[in-house]
Amino acid sequence: DAPLLEVCRLRVEFPTRRGTLLALDDVSFDIRAGEILGVVGESGAGKSLTGAAIIGLLEPPGRIAGGEIRLEGRRIDDLPYEAMRRLRGRTIGAIFQDPLTSLNPLYTVGRQLVETIRTHLPVSADEARARAIRLLEETGIPAAGERFEHYPHQFSGGMRQRVVIALALAAEPKLIVADEPTTALDVSIQAQIITLLKRVCREHGAAVMLVTHDMGVIAETCDRVAVMYAGRIAEIGPVAELIHRPRHPYTVGLMGSIPAMDVERERLAQIDGSMPRLGAIPAGCAFHPRCEHAFARCRSERPELMDAGATRAACWLVGAGQELAA
Ligand code: SF4
Ligand code: MG
Repeated sequence: DAPLLEVCRLRVEFPTRRGTLLALDDVSFDIRAGEILGVVGESGAGKSLTGAAIIGLLEPPGRIAGGEIRLEGRRIDDLPYEAMRRLRGRTIGAIFQDPLTSLNPLYTVGRQLVETIRTHLPVSADEARARAIRLLEETGIPAAGERFEHYPHQFSGGMRQRVVIALALAAEPKLIVADEPTTALDVSIQAQIITLLKRVCREHGAAVMLVTHDMGVIAETCDRVAVMYAGRIAEIGPVAELIHRPRHPYTVGLMGSIPAMDVERERLAQIDGSMPRLGAIPAGCAFHPRCEHAFARCRSERPELMDAGATRAACWLVGAGQELAA
């Protein structure tokens, strides 16, 4: 029973005039069918880049410079553009922060849903229409039959993101990559959208990679979590373990206080200092300038992910068998 998605030692580079910036280095994880993996970290940690690499939408000059991405056992990181585009519509769905980037303003949402369905599934126009309306209903859009005829600008932000979720599910994808899907929405709408995403993905059996900087969202939604820092995974494991027994000092900081869903975000700023910029990543453990536990080895030698009980953490303390008080 192989994982649905396997990301192995992924490396993403940005060539610049002043040299090549390594944006993702040695990122490995997998996602099983039906599972929701949260990817969390401060902005610039590489969360969105990881998602973009998986769906084949890295912005140039960014490029995959090493490693492999496999979907159902087949490599997808080296697919030609057209094949990747088809895969993106059919097997992988994408949801971005701004629903308008996923919707064509010139077409009704019904037409966009029907076209997506008919491009990927062998159904008649009538079947596609019925299916589109059902998807709008499932995503909680009232009067779906009527709304079918409306244009994206006639929807509120929250309703538009529901349409985008319906669109992402239209071709029955096996994997959905959702990048900050609620960040642009009112706080009052965010929890609804996340609950919806979780429910419909469960019902459709889709696996989800959910990129967010919001620990509240992670706690509510995910089965497992990957914590990213400076282009690498700092810790990965089951959500309850990461919340209650985090092993990496950075995860401990992140988990310091998980906000209730109705409380404002930006809790990550509670860790003193800031994440290093690309091209200025410290030697050894990238977190060492901010880590209260840092010791000599941390400044010179880079820790790889190591087994730490139920999680894997890239920290020398784990190797030394130490436990942090969470
Ligand atoms: Fe802190 Fe060292 Fe662990 Fe890095 S390796 S998180 S600096 S203790
Ligand atoms: Mg991002």
